[in-house]
Amino acid sequence: MTEAAFNRERHLKYFLRCLKTFLPSLYTSNDSNRILLAFFTIAGLDILGELQNKTTPEERKGYIQWIYHCQVPSGGFRGFTGTDFGLERRNPANESWDPANVPSTFFALLILVILGDDLSRVKRTECLQWLPKMQRENGSFGEVLGPNGEIEGGGDLRFCCFAAGTRYILRGKRGSDVEDLDVDKLVEFIEACQTYDGGISEAPFCESHSGHTYCGIGALTFLGRLSEGDKSVALLSPGSEAFETLTRWLVARQTSELGDDEEDAHEEDDHTESARDPLNTAQAADNVDEMFGQLPTLPTPSTETLEWAGFNGRCNKYADTCYSFWNGATLTMMDRFALVDADRNRRYLLDKTQHLIGGFGKGVGEPPDLLHSYFGMVSLAFQGEAGLEGVDPALCASHRAVRHLHTLPWWQERAV
Ligand SMILES: [Zn+2]
Repeated sequence: MTEAAFNRERHLKYFLRCLKTFLPSLYTSNDSNRILLAFFTIAGLDILGELQNKTTPEERKGYIQWIYHCQVPSGGFRGFTGTDFGLERRNPANESWDPANVPSTFFALLILVILGDDLSRVKRTECLQWLPKMQRENGSFGEVLGPNGEIEGGGDLRFCCFAAGTRYILRGKRGSDVEDLDVDKLVEFIEACQTYDGGISEAPFCESHSGHTYCGIGALTFLGRLSEGDKSVALLSPGSEAFETLTRWLVARQTSELGDDEEDAHEEDDHTESARDPLNTAQAADNVDEMFGQLPTLPTPSTETLEWAGFNGRCNKYADTCYSFWNGATLTMMDRFALVDADRNRRYLLDKTQHLIGGFGKGVGEPPDLLHSYFGMVSLAFQGEAGLEGVDPALCASHRAVRHLHTLPWWQERAV
């Protein structure tokens, strides 16, 4: 078979098109999340190593300006400028209509770091004061502060991860005099989310999910990096049951069930059949043998179908590009990435979801979108794909950007 190839030039064109022309109309509903789209675009060009070459200093200054325009006067960032009604009209009675948002704050800071900004205009103290106000009694985090300072939205591990990531970026090694969030409670909440099968779910007693697993381990990684020497939590301690069962669950997410066109078409035929004859199913119920006979024959994996193996995010699901990232990044943080079949993951991404016009789609034959395009590339970066910068699995940004973060003043020295 032909060797799968990473089409770097096409991906570069794709990300430049996303940066410099209008996005397709499908993104309209994501307008209030524009900071996230900006993150994927800027970070994508950065890991392709072309952010500096393909944008001018003026353009980068403009992007930085736009991010600061999303900063809320009381600390933190909004997801887009649409809720900003101006400083002169803003007052304590109406400011909850234009709140800072936990995920947007993390992504805004990260974009600034990637663009080489020194964060000197970030309301660092205000942001660090706001963050603990977003933490709930059970240790988890909300999304925004509503009227009367009530915590609204969020509650799952995504918000825990963004809060811990924001704390990491802004507290640094030096720390801050500002009252910290309740780290012990946050750790307890994350630990309570690990389920019977070893994976981690969005909240206690829910179904294991790779995206939330990434967020749980990401949050613990951020906390751990700032507390060197402290006792490590079980989920990050090799040999512990929590660590080993999670590793097994993550590795078991690799699958050759790709949900490709052929299988889907076959499935559709079956549905049409029963729709044509509604009595079909009822009659079959009288005869168990016949019912078993009607169950679909699952194809046995062959040497050929096993050539491609992506990842799913839950048991019994098809592979999806972004799960190559969610699972791969988590295993990288746990230093267990070597356990996956990197060659088959690479072939899945490059042969099956890499798109002709650049970018990656969610699944086989799907059009590219920013999220899957970025995560597809990051997954390949973990495997050392030529033409891609190395990526930090927790910050989800290039090592180059992380090195820049670590040059900022509050990263320079430890508190005495
Ligand atoms: Zn996906």
